[in-house]
Amino acid sequence: MNYVAPVKDMMFNLKHIAHLESLCELPDLQDSSLETAQAVLEEFARFNQEVTAGLNWSGDQTPSKLDPNTGVVHTSPGFKAAYTQFIHAGWQGLEHPQAYGGQGFAKSISSACAEMLNSANLSFALCPLLTDGAIEALRVAGSAQMQARFLPHLVSGQWSGTMNLTEPQAGSDLSLIQTRAQEAEDGHYLLFGTKIYITYGEHDMSENIVHMVLARAKDAPPGVKGISLFLVPKFKLTPEGQVGERNDVHCVQLEHKLGIKASPTAVMKFGEHGGAQGLLVGELNRGLEYMFIMMNAARFGVGLQGVALGERAYQAARNYALERVQSRAVDNPSGGAVAIVQHPDVKRMLMTMRAYVQSARALSFAAAGAYDRAHHHPDAAVRLQEQAIYEFMVPLVKGFSTEMSQWVSSMAVQVHGGMGFIEETGVAQYYRDAKILTIYEGTTAIQANDLLGRKTWKDRGRVAQLLLAQMAVTLSALSANPTPQAKSLHQRMVEAIEAFELALDFVLKHFQAKPLLAYAAGVPFLMLTSQVMAGWQMAKSMMAAQAEMDAGQDRAFHQAKIDTAHFYAQHILTQSPGLAQSIVFGGESVNALSAESF
Ligand SMILES: Cc1cc2nc3c(=O)[nH]c(=O)nc-3n(C[C@H](O)[C@H](O)[C@H](O)COP(=O)(O)OP(=O)(O)OC[C@H]3O[C@@H](n4cnc5c(N)ncnc54)[C@H](O)[C@@H]3O)c2cc1C
Repeated sequence: MNYVAPVKDMMFNLKHIAHLESLCELPDLQDSSLETAQAVLEEFARFNQEVTAGLNWSGDQTPSKLDPNTGVVHTSPGFKAAYTQFIHAGWQGLEHPQAYGGQGFAKSISSACAEMLNSANLSFALCPLLTDGAIEALRVAGSAQMQARFLPHLVSGQWSGTMNLTEPQAGSDLSLIQTRAQEAEDGHYLLFGTKIYITYGEHDMSENIVHMVLARAKDAPPGVKGISLFLVPKFKLTPEGQVGERNDVHCVQLEHKLGIKASPTAVMKFGEHGGAQGLLVGELNRGLEYMFIMMNAARFGVGLQGVALGERAYQAARNYALERVQSRAVDNPSGGAVAIVQHPDVKRMLMTMRAYVQSARALSFAAAGAYDRAHHHPDAAVRLQEQAIYEFMVPLVKGFSTEMSQWVSSMAVQVHGGMGFIEETGVAQYYRDAKILTIYEGTTAIQANDLLGRKTWKDRGRVAQLLLAQMAVTLSALSANPTPQAKSLHQRMVEAIEAFELALDFVLKHFQAKPLLAYAAGVPFLMLTSQVMAGWQMAKSMMAAQAEMDAGQDRAFHQAKIDTAHFYAQHILTQSPGLAQSIVFGGESVNALSAESF
């Protein structure tokens, strides 16, 4: 159950996929050099290997508990102390501006750190992840006074953040939100309603909890156009900005869950005793727009959770496969039993896991690099373009990485045989924990709808075409590489791109005219797009690994990268033409049965 942070692979991605050497030439990113990144990653790897990873299994066995008499949620043993260590070392502020006490590092670096924290302890990592989302929303939509009062405490991690969207009748469909906000005389609002499934809605790790809450003000228009965003602190602030009296927002129940058991999932009641005092964030009725900023950050963060969980499951499976001795080798039947890693099918599973994790990681670094350019490039046109690329990639990072974490964690159990089904081995926990990733922050279907509508149809495929043009440059360079692995990856990429172009054309043609067919194709389109975009990163990785090897760098590591990219081409990219067939020809059968026929 040990975890070793894949610092070498992260550094490879920082250099060759996120292009950190050019990012650290941008304004405000001068501190984000490769050397600094190496030092930060090594330090954070140590923290996670020594502190948070060891609390993962015990947290699963001893979940957070609500004391019904006091309303206090006690987190799993060791969590509070680990959180104190985490914030004292300044890890919460890694990517946030120095003006608020953060360290101002590139998102590419903080993403690598987020992956580590999530690999080590998914339940623990959720608290900082939601705080990051609250910081992002306040930076974009909060007033100067609100930013000054709340951001330094959130950036330090002394106070944590939550996201309060979901209600019993409003899950994927936020237009159904009913929580009410009533304007009070002193400029505050009073909130009344119930929110469910609120991650870290109540806990004992931070001094205050800053709830970001979606609610409807009086006379708000119906649907999503009438939703506003409010900041509701657990403890109201004194005029000096210190933690003051208790606000009327309370956790009344914690859910019992399949996984992430240490993370408290709370039912929150607002306004049972006169109204929860809240501040309007930004303008009235623009709440969903602001929440989307927070959701883009949180969805990217959940995508990293998928990579993280896949990595941890892969490490467990690899370690077990190297130790477990069973059956003779097929190419040496007269020899003794061998470690199961020798069997081709176990190798196939391990290679599949590796290829999925490494490709999803590379995709996340490509997105993080785009985010950094979008936020720091001096040229406004470049910023705009990179922001569009980042936004296009967010549903891919979320959808693909979290879906692959299901397959990878399931394979990790399979590699363990019967031992995988036994809780004490630890891999069963990864399998259980993984399931939430395709559900929260928008299910996979909601990511697919986002990709189809907002990211593809709205600009008539402009960003997709832009990425295809950039991909063509990479493929032309790859075609000059004479190795059989490069030839194979090139050929499979050409076929996968053809498949993607076919699917893109279909989606653009049918999105409005035949929405049932277009939406039936949503998740396959998300997977096909992700496979191609991740395949592109694998092509860049293969060429970079070859160049590093030619320069005499770490032969074993770079050869394994080339072999993993080759496997990706032969076993994952080959699925793309099949997905295109389902997208283009499969819609009728999806919609064939009427609701009554199921
Ligand atoms: C452990 C946990 C932690 C959570 N943390 C938070 C949190 O911190 N804050 C918060 O606000 N919420 C949180 N959630 C809520 C989570 O975001 C929702 O559960 C999720 O958005 C899905 O909503 P739902 O459960 O109502 O499912 P539903 O919306 O009822 O969906 C059920 C099924 O229908 C599908 N579906 C629904 N609409 C569509 C559509 N338009 N197109 C295609 N398919 C569709 C879905 O994909 C899904 O398969 C959490 C949930 C859990 C379980």
